Amino acid sequence: MINVENLSKSYKSVKVLKNLNLSIADKEVVVIIGPSGSGKSTFLRCLNLLENPTSGKIKIKGQIINEKKVNIDEIRSKMGMVFQHFNLFPHYTVLENIIHAPMAVRKQSREQAITKAEQLLEIVGLKDKKDVFPITLSGGQQQRIAIARALAMEPEIMLFDEPTSALDPEMVGDVLKVIQRLASEGMTMVVVTHEMGFAREVADRVIFMADGILIEEGTPEQVFDNPQHERTKQFLSKVI
Ligand code: ADP
Ligand code: MG
Repeated sequence: MINVENLSKSYKSVKVLKNLNLSIADKEVVVIIGPSGSGKSTFLRCLNLLENPTSGKIKIKGQIINEKKVNIDEIRSKMGMVFQHFNLFPHYTVLENIIHAPMAVRKQSREQAITKAEQLLEIVGLKDKKDVFPITLSGGQQQRIAIARALAMEPEIMLFDEPTSALDPEMVGDVLKVIQRLASEGMTMVVVTHEMGFAREVADRVIFMADGILIEEGTPEQVFDNPQHERTKQFLSKVI
């Protein structure tokens, strides 16, 4: 589904991503862990072209997406992204937040978009909130709406960048449950998280990233229970 070859990204003279190579299979759930500043967000942002890689190739289903002639909007519409900060449109109701892009970009009818939005609200457990404004919701509820909004575009891949990092602890579980459900339904996902218990449960593969390098990868058992690299051991000893 995703092939990354020799991907590098620099900001001025600072190399943030250093020759990353990675393949992600259809329906695979990859969790990326690692210290702050290691390039995790930059990597996700390169995957959906919010950042332009300095060199290397990113292929989605065999198509190179980081070259001039590609239609960025088309590529992005295949990928849903959920950030730490939910960025809902404050002047739109929950329902309007969800139906906006399907109508504007996918040219769905209002009825069609609403039908889909109501299904998604059911999935994220917030059907009764469809007519309220985001500001009246808790952080966890807003994040679940953000997930529903991303899913409304029927993406083939979901990218999550620390989706629970800005939430109060009691909100985290509900959001993780939604992500877990998506995983079990076969969504291809890349998830950056500091929730190690969640990573262990949901990941097919865990990748430890530090200093712009993919240091180590394996099953959750391999990476968490038997890390090979000193840098990984050091990090895990601090977070687990
Ligand atoms: P992480 O998500 O793992 O915490 P980031 O991808 O956010 O790491 O950042 C990796 C490095 O790139 C950091 O040193 C950060 O300061 C730098 N960086 C990120 N975005 C920019 C930018 N737009 N301009 C300059 N430096 C940036
Ligand atoms: Mg980050």
